[in-house]
Amino acid sequence: MRTRVVIVGAGPAGLLLSHLLDRAGVDSVLLETRSPQYVLGRIRAGVLESSSVDLLTEVGLGERLAREGDEHRGIYLQWTEGQDTERHHLDFVDHVGRSVWVYGQTELTKDLMAAREAAGRQAHYEVADVALHDVASERPSVTFTDRNGRRQRVEADAVAGCDGFHGPSRAAVPTSVRRTWERVYPYAWLGVLADVAPSTDELVYAWHPEGFALHSMRSATVSRLYLQVAPDEDVAQWSDDRVWDALATRLGHGRNGWSLEQGPITEKSVLPMRSHVATPMRHGRLFLAGDAAHIVPPTGAKGLNLAIADVALLARALTALLVDGSPALVGSYSEDALRRVWRCTHFSWWMTTMLHTVPADRGDDFDARLQLSQLRWVTSSHAGAAGLAENYAGLPIGF
Ligand SMILES: Cc1cc2nc3c(=O)[nH]c(=O)nc-3n(C[C@H](O)[C@H](O)[C@H](O)COP(=O)(O)OP(=O)(O)OC[C@H]3O[C@@H](n4cnc5c(N)ncnc54)[C@H](O)[C@@H]3O)c2cc1C
Repeated sequence: MRTRVVIVGAGPAGLLLSHLLDRAGVDSVLLETRSPQYVLGRIRAGVLESSSVDLLTEVGLGERLAREGDEHRGIYLQWTEGQDTERHHLDFVDHVGRSVWVYGQTELTKDLMAAREAAGRQAHYEVADVALHDVASERPSVTFTDRNGRRQRVEADAVAGCDGFHGPSRAAVPTSVRRTWERVYPYAWLGVLADVAPSTDELVYAWHPEGFALHSMRSATVSRLYLQVAPDEDVAQWSDDRVWDALATRLGHGRNGWSLEQGPITEKSVLPMRSHVATPMRHGRLFLAGDAAHIVPPTGAKGLNLAIADVALLARALTALLVDGSPALVGSYSEDALRRVWRCTHFSWWMTTMLHTVPADRGDDFDARLQLSQLRWVTSSHAGAAGLAENYAGLPIGF
């Protein structure tokens, strides 16, 4: 097979890239190890920044998002000390004039798959043995075994590595030029999906001496809730009753006239937390985008948005190269994308370390005092609130 761009991985980064290239008249072939049903069934991110929403709307993917998504002006930040729970609303629109949208990654994936199907572009699901070849040359190729067991080769002008944290693309950048930075956090999130109407109008980020909790939502009838747990936590130890008890305690059920509504839990999983950045994001004609190049802890709701921002830049760069013959944007892709990646990496780390309790190994609660001081500052100072709001609602793509 021959195409202009082989896209490895059909998560949000790969699917959106194929859509953007298609609109620019650039042919692509998409390869994915999983089945479409499996990809659609993965419960992951749910918050879209304003620039992600603007981009999706601009490229014809905003219709269902506008109809079924939920615009949020901000978030609540909350902390509990002794018998007192303080909850403050932080209004992004007031502070920086931008909002965020709650729209599940599964819904966005559905829209992206439908767009690809409508465009009649090739996608190979359930492939195996994916290997990248000659990526430093102008004629790279990718080999794979298709779902019928046939070996295939796709030759292209460029390869987009959109295959997430565990895919093969990142390793195709030689170790002599690759550099990585990593922080593994001493906690994880236990996430549950519950068939119950959200108990709040906007997300609640709660600091609690027993650990962080987040009240989030996917729709008017589905809540998404998280609890800070140990990184090696066994999900089997968490019965539904134990989950609801911990959420009630940490989110402050019964305090200040607020109550947490409960419902059937339909999904339960543990999500480890790490920050990881691999550079460069381009090597020859191989371009990394999304989780293939970087991972952030989910506290700042950045993973999906970073994937979207990467492929917005990449589609522009590949179009300039393959349609107009101009290599400048391809040359600066890694540098351009990494500016935003590091900003979001810092913000995600900042939110994470502000909100998660750490074991006091020195016999005092120094970290907790700093966290509470930071929370008070962010919720009482315009400058503090505006900094959080600007980063959470998202900087422009191309920042
Ligand atoms: C469990 C979980 C929960 C998360 N929750 C949140 C959240 O609450 N908020 C938030 O902002 N972010 C969250 N994230 C992060 C967010 O979902 C990701 O940042 C986002 O999915 C990145 O999109 P992507 O397309 O780059 O990568 P992915 O979505 O990982 O897609 C990569 C694709 O490549 C495919 N692939 C892998 N190997 C190969 C191969 N060899 N050949 C072909 N295809 C391959 C994979 O099957 C996958 O479909 C979560 C992530 C996980 C894992």
